[in-house]
Amino acid sequence: MGCDGGTIPRRSELVKIKKKPETKDKTSHLIFQWRYCNISQQLLQRPIVTCGLGKLYNKSSIIEAIINKESIPNHIRTLKDTVELNLTNNPEFHEDNRTEIETSPFICSVTGLEMSGKFRFVALWSCGCVFSERALKEVNMKTCPKCLKSFHEMDVVILNPSGEDMKNMVNRMELRKKRKKRRLHEKNAEIQNKKIKDI
Ligand SMILES: [Zn+2]
Repeated sequence: MGCDGGTIPRRSELVKIKKKPETKDKTSHLIFQWRYCNISQQLLQRPIVTCGLGKLYNKSSIIEAIINKESIPNHIRTLKDTVELNLTNNPEFHEDNRTEIETSPFICSVTGLEMSGKFRFVALWSCGCVFSERALKEVNMKTCPKCLKSFHEMDVVILNPSGEDMKNMVNRMELRKKRKKRRLHEKNAEIQNKKIKDI
């Protein structure tokens, strides 16, 4: 790596060099985003789910909020508006590291990167598997690197997105809703056809 051999540094490398050290506020924000449930503010504990917008929640907190009709984000009406995550434990993590951002409870099983907010992580809506975005880009697959189930681009949910990523997640959520409606419509049509044939 480097410029002496005539190679052009990639943007990500330049960004890394210029990056300032994390401030205390930024660190606590990252810890809140990646370690705590977005609605109950309790520590994230399995089973953990994400919504179409890539926020993290304890499944139990979502169920409780739905049953008790507590305030919950508009885009979550039923448990079907979330997906349970298939996360990979970080063997290096200990409970003592709970408030440190450097060591995350979860890692990407493909690249070994830690899920701490430093690198983009994604979940697949189709199977719930979680890994770093880099893992997806490196292999350029159409099947999940963890469980081998096929997926569509609209199934890729960036976890804790911001800015442009958030806009994309809103779009993908809408696309998935349309796909769901279309599939339901197709299924109903199939049932109708079968009924006609049976007469
Ligand atoms: Zn999978």
